[in-house]
Amino acid sequence: MKKSSFFLVALASVSFALTVPLTVNTTSSPITYAKSTKRVAGKAVAKAIRRSPDLNPTASVRKYPAYIYDKYWKVFDRWYNVQPMSAPGVFKKHTARVYVANKALKSYTYAAMNNWNKALKVKAFKVGTKAHHTMTVGFKNAGTGDGSWDGYYITSKLYINYNFFDNANYLPAVYKAITGKSLPSGDQPNSAAYKSVYDTYWKSVITHELGHSLSLDHTPYSNDIMEADSGTKSGDAKYSWHSTKVVDDSYAIFTDKLSSRDINRAKLTRILGYW
Ligand SMILES: [Zn+2]
Repeated sequence: MKKSSFFLVALASVSFALTVPLTVNTTSSPITYAKSTKRVAGKAVAKAIRRSPDLNPTASVRKYPAYIYDKYWKVFDRWYNVQPMSAPGVFKKHTARVYVANKALKSYTYAAMNNWNKALKVKAFKVGTKAHHTMTVGFKNAGTGDGSWDGYYITSKLYINYNFFDNANYLPAVYKAITGKSLPSGDQPNSAAYKSVYDTYWKSVITHELGHSLSLDHTPYSNDIMEADSGTKSGDAKYSWHSTKVVDDSYAIFTDKLSSRDINRAKLTRILGYW
C-alpha cells in the first residue's frame, strides 16, 4: 500500500493559476489603501516572503495590512502551500461547528479539534449538533486497495475510511511503511501499547484532515501534521517532492503534534480569509 494514498484531499472545484511567480507587482508606486495609513511596497513583501523559512509563514510575513493579502493571495498560496478548501459558511466568525455522526469517532475528533484550538489560541472548532453544525465527520467505505485513503476532507465533510479504522493489520503496515520499523506490540491489537499508538494515529489523521478544512495543503516534512510523501508544484504548492523529508526522526502522524509550520500556516490562512 502506498502511503501517498493514505491522505487524499479533494479540493473544492476552484481552480487557480498554476504558475504564480514570486514577483509581486512593483512597477507602480507603493500601494495605498483607503482605510489604511500604512503604505507597504510589494518589494518589501516579496523580500519578507523569500526570507521566511521553507513553507513557514512566520510572524514576519503575517504583519501586513489586510489589502496586502487581498492583493497578493496567489503568492501566499503558492509560497506556503495553501488555498481555500472549505465551502463558504463552514467557518462563521472563524469557527466551524463540527457534528460527529459516528460515536466511535467522537473522542478522536474532539481531541483533534482541541489540538488545533489550543495551538491557535482560538476556537476554530466547536462541537455542533445534528441540527446545528457546519461540518460533519463520519465513516465511509473507501476500500483497502489502490486509491483508498485514511481520511478525506471535501468542502464541509470529513470522512474516515472504516476499512482501515477497523482493521488490526492496518496500523502495523502503516507504521512499517512510514518509519521503516516494526510496530511494538503490532501483533497484540488488544494490548495497551498497541491501543496507544492506534489512538494517536487516528487522532492525527483527523487533525490532518481538519488542517485541510483550514485550507492547508501538504508539506514534505515528517514532523508536520500536514505531511505527505509526494506533492506536485502548482498554484498551492511551492515545489514538487517525491519523498518525505524526515526531521529529527519525528513523524507527526504518530505523535499528533502540530509543528510551528502547521500552526503558522493556519494563522496565515485565517489572515487570508480562508476560514
Ligand atoms: Zn492530506
